[in-house]
Amino acid sequence: MAFHASILTLYPEMFPGPLGASLAGEGLRRGLWSLDTHQIRDHGIGRHRNVDDNPAGGGAGMVLRCDVLAAAIDAAVPAEDTRPRLLMSPRGRRLDQALVREFVASEGVVIVCGRFEGVDERVIEGRNLIEVSVGDYILSGGEMAAFVLLDACVRLIPGVMGKVASGQDESFENGLLEYPQYTRPREWEGRGLPEALLSGDHARIAKWRREQAEAITRERRPDLLNPSPPRGKG
Ligand code: SAH
Repeated sequence: MAFHASILTLYPEMFPGPLGASLAGEGLRRGLWSLDTHQIRDHGIGRHRNVDDNPAGGGAGMVLRCDVLAAAIDAAVPAEDTRPRLLMSPRGRRLDQALVREFVASEGVVIVCGRFEGVDERVIEGRNLIEVSVGDYILSGGEMAAFVLLDACVRLIPGVMGKVASGQDESFENGLLEYPQYTRPREWEGRGLPEALLSGDHARIAKWRREQAEAITRERRPDLLNPSPPRGKG
């Protein structure tokens, strides 16, 4: 079955948004992947369809109710659905290329987008939500984080990007940042091209790229060369 994403959100009109353009959008139209959205508010309480309430114990902001979110999840995702159920959350496991590959290998993902101060902890436990973060900063909602996660997944689906995305050369795919890229013109504002790239000698070009990738990684991201164990649960 093709990769299928189900999004639970208070703003379904945001989707597919940027994922409807370019190669991801082309893949969507061609059925290489699919997306459905579910309005959390449809499961809100009372006439006003309330989805949030004050934090227990006091404090600023509002918290998404566990009963409302659970009802939305249960309605959107059949019990036998084995796709990972993700909650976008700054407390989660930090998204990286290895995790993206795991998601692409499953039949898709269910993504719960938080808003306000976050969600009642009990629904995370009660519905086995896996918290995933896109980085150490706070967004106003999970939707932008979901775009990031889905874009990273969709481009790896066979057929979406043709040959390009299989490229083992890309940053992170081999534990290194990518080597510098060049194209035309051959000279620009007094800057030429690295000589190795003009040599036509494939072995020499490969060696140059490898050395560049290693040097750039050593300089900018030494942590990639000596990875510490992953942090965050999920
Ligand atoms: N009070 C929370 C932040 C809430 S931000 C805290 O301090 O942890 C509101 C929602 O935006 C979150 O529920 C989450 O779904 C989403 N969000 C914010 N930052 C995110 C990030 N870095 N990664 C993934 N989701 C994020």
